Amino acid sequence: ATPTAITVGVGRGAELGILIKNSEVLELSRRIDTIIFDKTGTLTRGIPVVTETVLFGQSEEDFLAIASGVEARSEHPLAAAVVAHAEGKEIVPADCTEFQAVSGKGVKAEAGGHSVLVGSRTFLSEQGIGLILPVTDAFEAIQNRGETAIGVAADDAIAGIIGISDSIRDTSFAAAKELHTMGLAVGMVTGDNERTAAAVAQQLGTDFMNAEVLPDEKSGIIQRMQKEGKCIAFVGDGINDAPALAAADIGIAIGSGTDIAIESGDIVLVQSDPLDVAAAIQLGRKVMGRIK
Ligand code: ADP
Ligand code: MG
Repeated sequence: ATPTAITVGVGRGAELGILIKNSEVLELSRRIDTIIFDKTGTLTRGIPVVTETVLFGQSEEDFLAIASGVEARSEHPLAAAVVAHAEGKEIVPADCTEFQAVSGKGVKAEAGGHSVLVGSRTFLSEQGIGLILPVTDAFEAIQNRGETAIGVAADDAIAGIIGISDSIRDTSFAAAKELHTMGLAVGMVTGDNERTAAAVAQQLGTDFMNAEVLPDEKSGIIQRMQKEGKCIAFVGDGINDAPALAAADIGIAIGSGTDIAIESGDIVLVQSDPLDVAAAIQLGRKVMGRIK
């Protein structure tokens, strides 16, 4: 494209809330064949809300006191949902010491006189917590709805499960449809569990998805697909997404995302609207159409 066409394209993008930080990527938009979205905070709102607690023995008050006591120390969005839920019930969080976060898995600490674990089903299993019926059924019922289920264990026994919903952005459906119409493959990657991810991917009609991806593995998935000859735009918002945004042929950051994601993206979607991914690719295609 001519320098003029690129300048016009960048300007038009700015008007649309599509901030093109690296104009070289405009030239790539014609070659992009695959769009991969992060799930949480990108296709979903990233505002998780507790929908349900399933208790195994403890009172709700004791259970939420220890769960929120530990989660108050975590910076994870799921943790904020647990803390807000306990607050809403006027439950005082238990004092917490020896807090430790295990990235992509959960947290552990001492709280309310118990050794507490909060995290994914996989995390609890790895930590030696026995999970049998009806606990496994409770996990799966929540996950089949497309919600995230986190388990809370106290002193080596499961104490309860918390169902957390993060609703899909309205325009994520239209974005998947529009990108398909443009002839692009649409995928999703997430650290969330397989069942929850499958329910979300099915609702959106994505062509493929990778679940239970550890924080440092997202970029590896992109690099593998690039070796297979794919030209990839990755869309993400989180700290975890920064390496994937850098590895992708085009990195597209969600405007409401973390600073590090925004820094790593070639393009920033100011309105945090997944539909603007389609608009960005269309804009690039148009600019490149002006080649002399
Ligand atoms: P995503 O990529 O979907 O944002 P993460 O990689 O941050 O997910 O986390 C993956 C999973 O690890 C979560 O779905 C949750 O089950 C568990 N997890 C991580 N941190 C916490 C926490 N502080 N409290 C509860 N669960 C957590
Ligand atoms: Mg995210």
